[in-house]
Amino acid sequence: MKVGNKLTIQIIIALILGIIVGSVLSPMADQSWVQWVDQYIFNLVGQLFLNMIFMMVVPVVFISIVLGVVNVGDPKMLGGIGLKTLAFYLATTAIAITIAMIVANILNPGEGQSQLLDSQEVSEYRESELEGGSTGEALQQGFDQTVINLIPTNIIEAMGTQNMLQIIAFAIFIGIAIIAGKEKSARLTALFEEANDVVMWIVMAIMKYFAAIGAFGLVATAFVQAGFGAIQQLGMYFICVLLALFIHLALVYGSVVQFIAKKSFIWFIKNFAPAMGVAFSTSSSSAVLPISLETAQDNLKIRKSISSFVQPLGATINMDGTAIMQGVATVFIAQLSGIDLTLMQMVTVVIIAVVASIGTAGVPGVGLVMLAMVLTAVGLDPAAIGIIIGIDRLLDMTRTMVNVTGDATIALVINEQQTRREEASKAEA
Ligand code: ASP
Repeated sequence: MKVGNKLTIQIIIALILGIIVGSVLSPMADQSWVQWVDQYIFNLVGQLFLNMIFMMVVPVVFISIVLGVVNVGDPKMLGGIGLKTLAFYLATTAIAITIAMIVANILNPGEGQSQLLDSQEVSEYRESELEGGSTGEALQQGFDQTVINLIPTNIIEAMGTQNMLQIIAFAIFIGIAIIAGKEKSARLTALFEEANDVVMWIVMAIMKYFAAIGAFGLVATAFVQAGFGAIQQLGMYFICVLLALFIHLALVYGSVVQFIAKKSFIWFIKNFAPAMGVAFSTSSSSAVLPISLETAQDNLKIRKSISSFVQPLGATINMDGTAIMQGVATVFIAQLSGIDLTLMQMVTVVIIAVVASIGTAGVPGVGLVMLAMVLTAVGLDPAAIGIIIGIDRLLDMTRTMVNVTGDATIALVINEQQTRREEASKAEA
């Protein structure tokens, strides 16, 4: 089954309608009928859709990674693909954050806005998030713990909390054990293959019947609550993030697809658009995973063994869009505080943001938690996040779209390189 043009168009129309309807109702957001419509129509259909795709994340990721490993067949080759994936992910994230900081340093979003630091949102954020809140806890987790946490002690808990890296680790172990079992595990391989067809059928059905209406609901409710007043005040920050996201998407992914994967970028975007649309509406790389896997495998013809390994990994460790927001936000907050970041501090921002993105779940708003880590590392006050939190939902939608596109871009490159290598060795033989 292919995610066809008709569905792509439906999703795009749904997104546009959601933006229009949500924006029109937003100024009336405190009226009771708007709240009713928002809660019982937009939010209801949106959350139903979100739950449906979230429901599929663990089975899809687990089953498809096991199969991916079995299909690659050679653990050494898997290691090669893993290392290459990691290198691409780290490099693109570092480029992303560098672009963001250059854009922010040229456009100076924080200039003349220092009064924002005294706003109530800053003290509220300090009290609710940093002093005892989840952000405070996350900040205390060291790098060693992040590495230790790669291996689950309890796989049921890992699945229950949707801890993607732990699920990936467990699935790799199972996959390797199936390979080691050879004929003895043939039935298990067949079982995983059948299970894969079943879960993918469900994903496709959810896409076909619910994606457009669900995306509409999620986008409409986000825009009803968008707080457009805050956007006006933070307009330059908003523009900087969007501009840097666009530059990264068009230039970096564009060049990688055209010149390294040697495919047309227009073809790539056109075929991956349904997943991008769902990423925009859900603001969650994890939630969109079943759909981005399906779209990449069916529309971009990325082989299952590569897609099902590279993309779930990317959904947690590769967040270029998030890194872009963090780069712009750091420069913005430094400017508000009247601090000129030194080159060394900027390099620190790049390194911390790249490291911080590993092991952080692809769920809405998590980028801000990581931002607290980045700000603390260069001596800025993380409570300043309170200023941007109000408009973050809208930026989250856009950056998640970039995050997910980045994962598919790298999956495509690895796929094409693998294909070329196999063709070359066939020609030699
Ligand atoms: N929502 C983003 C994602 O899931 C993460 C973030 O930037 O908050 O990819």
